[in-house]
Amino acid sequence: MRIALAGLQHETNTFAPGLTEAEDFLAPGGWPKQSRGDEIEAALAGTSVPMAGALRVLKHTDITAVPLLWTMALPSGRVRHAAFEALADEIAGRLQDQLPVDGLFLELHGAMATTEDDDAEGALLGRLRTLVGPDLPIVVALDLHTNLSARMVAAADQMFAYLTYPHIDMADTGARAMKRLLELAKGAPRPAKAFRQMAYLLPLVAQGTGSSPVEGLYRAAEARTDVDTMITLGFPLADVPDAGPALAIYAESQDAADAAANETLQQWTQAEPQFHAHLCTAAQGVEQAMQIDKHPVVIADVQDNPGGGGSNDTTGLLHALIEAKAEGALLVHIADGEAAKAAVDAGVDAVLDISVGGRTDPESGAPVPGPWRVVAVGDGQFTGVGPMYAGASIEMGPVALLEQAGVRVIVAGRRMQASEPALIHHLGLDPAELPILCVKSSVHFRGAYEKMASEIILVAAPGRVTMDLASLNYSSSRRRPASA
Ligand SMILES: [Zn+2]
Repeated sequence: MRIALAGLQHETNTFAPGLTEAEDFLAPGGWPKQSRGDEIEAALAGTSVPMAGALRVLKHTDITAVPLLWTMALPSGRVRHAAFEALADEIAGRLQDQLPVDGLFLELHGAMATTEDDDAEGALLGRLRTLVGPDLPIVVALDLHTNLSARMVAAADQMFAYLTYPHIDMADTGARAMKRLLELAKGAPRPAKAFRQMAYLLPLVAQGTGSSPVEGLYRAAEARTDVDTMITLGFPLADVPDAGPALAIYAESQDAADAAANETLQQWTQAEPQFHAHLCTAAQGVEQAMQIDKHPVVIADVQDNPGGGGSNDTTGLLHALIEAKAEGALLVHIADGEAAKAAVDAGVDAVLDISVGGRTDPESGAPVPGPWRVVAVGDGQFTGVGPMYAGASIEMGPVALLEQAGVRVIVAGRRMQASEPALIHHLGLDPAELPILCVKSSVHFRGAYEKMASEIILVAAPGRVTMDLASLNYSSSRRRPASA
């Protein structure tokens, strides 16, 4: 038996300026590089991405893995349509060259929008279904932030989304999808499907799967063993018709699928008033953190989350830390390649009269002026140890730890969500020992820091990853922001 596999991931923030280009898919910071054919297994080995989990299922079996392409770009603005088309052409072309196969495994984000298509995954899946015909099983592993469309559900026999946010089950999701694909390839009957979309959009901070009401709703779905339930919470910073939470039910009969879908939809509809986002200003968050004695207080700068298309260089929280003289606080991190290079060139103990951050767009806030003392520098190459990036070879480019008025900030050339303690270790610090640890992340930071944090404070300094969805001008989305 031969199983073809491909991966293509991008989470598109349609409100972010600029386009995502072909070269952005070559080397996404913190994630494996673009790879094709025989190079894929080695490129993904030991990483946490879904296709790595899927490939592990095929190991030690007599099934032949036929990897086609794996590629990802960091969350950002719409993908230039020609760049998407080139990647779709390559997947389709490589698949065609390998036919016949017995099944197709796909790892997709589920929230990719191009300059010409709001539902890029729907387009890709439709195209691949046409190519292989109606009989070949296709199973897909998706991100929890998928903006699920009818076109996607129709083209795939079954789909599996991450069950966790922070995403600590990416490889497991790939493994679950692959196991199901093998059942279908060996002749198990195709499931009946039902697809429903919730009537609202959820801000990212209301989506944590360890928090109420999401935790309880997921548990209710898991307890239901007569059907397979897939829930996606949606990526709300996308002005596309399918943005928002949705569900797909897979069952033995259409009646069973529809009944379960209606019941699950009702549970989510009733839960809407319970979704909430408790946020304060950066100044309030810093003041509150400084009154807590127990280490470390974690402050999350939730609206500058590069994992949601944030610029990773907003300065609202850094200004607030300096103004409050938050001695010993660390901010991870500001993407500012110029500052990082200047610090590395000058060396440890140099004092630099440079500004940090605030370079990307006016929304990033004013750059933070010096003088900055260089506390530590690094080459930015390390191996991930946190639950999301464990085993990944990470290349951030030159990185530096700068200090002013007792406040420390890491600067680096690349964007990366602050869910990876290895970056902090790399510059000689231990996150558990810090009085205040500030992270640019909405929810993923919880995977690495929730257990060690004495308290978590969410602050809403200005940034592109807004939690106040009512402030955005949605023109295509059919759904309204939840009451949060
Ligand atoms: Zn996600």
